[in-house]
Amino acid sequence: MRSYLTTVAVGLTVKRRNHGRNKKNRGHVNFVRCQNCFRSCPKDKAVKRFQARNIVDGACHDDYEAACVYTEYVTPKMYNKTFMCISCACHHRIVRVRSTEGRRERERPKRFRRFAEKKQQ
Ligand SMILES: [Zn+2]
Repeated sequence: MRSYLTTVAVGLTVKRRNHGRNKKNRGHVNFVRCQNCFRSCPKDKAVKRFQARNIVDGACHDDYEAACVYTEYVTPKMYNKTFMCISCACHHRIVRVRSTEGRRERERPKRFRRFAEKKQQ
């Protein structure tokens, strides 16, 4: 495989200098399965998200609390780490296509937290 600088010098198109991966000087990275389409995808390329959500969904949360004997019972949460291939992540709009200039941005996107704002008020 050509290096990034060689490819650019020759004039070939290359979208990302890391080819969308985070495999630094490693020969091989383990594969994970996409949780949507079950495609095998290298772990460093897969889109990884850590989800923590309540076991009881919001619709029946009030009924659940009313029926509970204990007054201060915190409903347990479900922690799940999801792996997705790039195709599914684009389709579900977890990641988006960026312009040539946008791809050069290396700052992390700002975190959006719904519940943090509610607690402060
Ligand atoms: Zn997929």
